[in-house]
Amino acid sequence: MLVVRAGTQDSPVKPGDDFYRYANGSWLAKSVIPAGQQSYDNRAMLTEKTSKQVRDLIQDAAATHSATGSIAQKVGDYYASFMDEGGIEAKGLAPLADEMTAIAAITNKASLSAYLGSTLNSEVDGLTANADHVLGVWINQGFEDSEHNLPHLWQGGLGLPDRDNYIDPSVKMVELRAQYQAHIAAVLKLAGFADSDTRAMRILSLETRMARTFAPESDAADVFKQNNPWKRADFDVRAAGMDWEAYFKSAGLAGQSEFIVWQPSAVTGVSALVDTEGIDPWRDYLRFHLIEHYAGVLPPAAAAEHFSFYGKILSGRQQAPDHAEAAIAATNGALGQAVGQLYTRRYFPPEAKARVQVMVTDLTTAFRSRIANLAWMSPQTKEKALAKLAALEIGIGYPDAWIDYSTLNVVRGDAFGNWRRAEAFNRQRNLKKLRQPVDPIEWPIHPQIPGAVIMFSPNAEFFSAAILQPPYFDSQGDSASNYGSAGAGMAHEISHSFDELGNIYDAHGRLSRWWSGEDLGRFRAEAAKLVAQYDAYCPLPDLCVKGKQVLSENAADLAGLLVAHDAYVLSLKGQTDVVLGGRSGEQRFFLAFAERWRRLQSETALRRQIAADTHAPGEYRSDAVRNVDAWYQAYKVVNGDKLYVKPEDRVRIW
Ligand SMILES: [Zn+2]
Repeated sequence: MLVVRAGTQDSPVKPGDDFYRYANGSWLAKSVIPAGQQSYDNRAMLTEKTSKQVRDLIQDAAATHSATGSIAQKVGDYYASFMDEGGIEAKGLAPLADEMTAIAAITNKASLSAYLGSTLNSEVDGLTANADHVLGVWINQGFEDSEHNLPHLWQGGLGLPDRDNYIDPSVKMVELRAQYQAHIAAVLKLAGFADSDTRAMRILSLETRMARTFAPESDAADVFKQNNPWKRADFDVRAAGMDWEAYFKSAGLAGQSEFIVWQPSAVTGVSALVDTEGIDPWRDYLRFHLIEHYAGVLPPAAAAEHFSFYGKILSGRQQAPDHAEAAIAATNGALGQAVGQLYTRRYFPPEAKARVQVMVTDLTTAFRSRIANLAWMSPQTKEKALAKLAALEIGIGYPDAWIDYSTLNVVRGDAFGNWRRAEAFNRQRNLKKLRQPVDPIEWPIHPQIPGAVIMFSPNAEFFSAAILQPPYFDSQGDSASNYGSAGAGMAHEISHSFDELGNIYDAHGRLSRWWSGEDLGRFRAEAAKLVAQYDAYCPLPDLCVKGKQVLSENAADLAGLLVAHDAYVLSLKGQTDVVLGGRSGEQRFFLAFAERWRRLQSETALRRQIAADTHAPGEYRSDAVRNVDAWYQAYKVVNGDKLYVKPEDRVRIW
């Protein structure tokens, strides 16, 4: 069945004067920003829709008693256990007893180091700035070695989001620290510890000393500063204090000889604190973080205290998410690909994947010839770009091979035990990768989470099943619209692997600058025209887009649009597309592109976006069509129309 997108034939707006409102006028008029939100757009709509789909799936699994050991049983029982607040309440803090005993048994540096090693969790995914525990680990290929997986270690263990929260002397931050300290005290009091105020003060002071050794955000964002290969012996020399033998042994990394240390100052700093801080503050610190870490599966009072700080104070949420929402998030976290299998079975069948695959093949073919014809890229650089494109892995919808959860035991009625076993399972799975070759098609995102992930290292990109649904992609729908919407979005992401973001990673995802200085100079000269074009967009009399800040996203939008259009033309194989709903294929292609960007937002949100976001407001992203000749033909846009740009002034870049 062909689904024709809601028509805008009646639009009073001329496409050449305001294409965004021509395409989205009726949607903008009838949509409202949900209460408590600052904006509403396709992405929000999709998240809402997918959340409901996932909720239904998981709740169905919980209501049906599936065969023991099946993924539906695991998903259903994980969720049901998490939801069983009565059962959780009845157990009190008893599930933490073993860990509390282990913490109480810490008496010296060796036992402290061993305990810290046991918390080195591999739940960190390469995108988290501050790991949940003192040091986070991520198993991935080396920055310069695409053949072997290595443990990447980075800073972590702070209860506040970042280093500046501890150091910034402003009144606001002083107040935040006081609130955090009060929260720590409340948690310890809940757990029955005497002198909770004194303990809280000591914990905050330990975290403050840790934070001072953390890399500042600017360093943490610079990947070249993260590439610090350390041998096992380096830890003893460069980071004295911790008993590293004991640490790595209990972390499951005994015998590992090579590491990448992302922030050496933090490893050195935290290690020194193991020596100097004294055992008591460390024990209290570990007790507090243990309770926080498992707050979701502890009695409601612990979860409520957690929310009172992290939800209300830090995130400004007035109301705790309903318990089901937390249970779904936890189930996704523990059994992401199991839920993903249930999700794709129902919502993203192999036929949908096959249809996206055809489009992706067209997109890469189109991008290949775009690269070959670039005027600003030197022949040597083009060769590298083409090799990188040929090697690029593109994951669509869901993985070809799913994680095998057969050794993970999920027991109804044991929320805490399920969480612990899932953590141990994921940790073992990750550590095992150290003995396996690099797998560039390992999925970093769950199919049921709407989104795209560019890995760079390895050289791979992933588009989840949940992002490949209407309004972006309709597996039963019109091709022209799919190419104009999802196609342009996918080509946008692909282009990032070749632009100023991706030009520091080669075809194998190794850190290496592969553009020459001349390439960069000529690219920037082209890009300057796009900066000027966006500088001229002013949504309010005192507010204009900052072209430079949004340049790399706008260049990717333009690349995405151009490449997707080429791909659409390729897909027709010389035929003329049918007319649907009175529109040619060319018209539907550009209309779908403009519809991608519809968004309602408050003035506050608009001002915030222009001040800090690297993406321009949707209206101006839609205006990328002004640089594309085919749009002028499709909508008969001529000199005199407000969006008209003279052919010689249209920006190409890609
Ligand atoms: Zn982008």
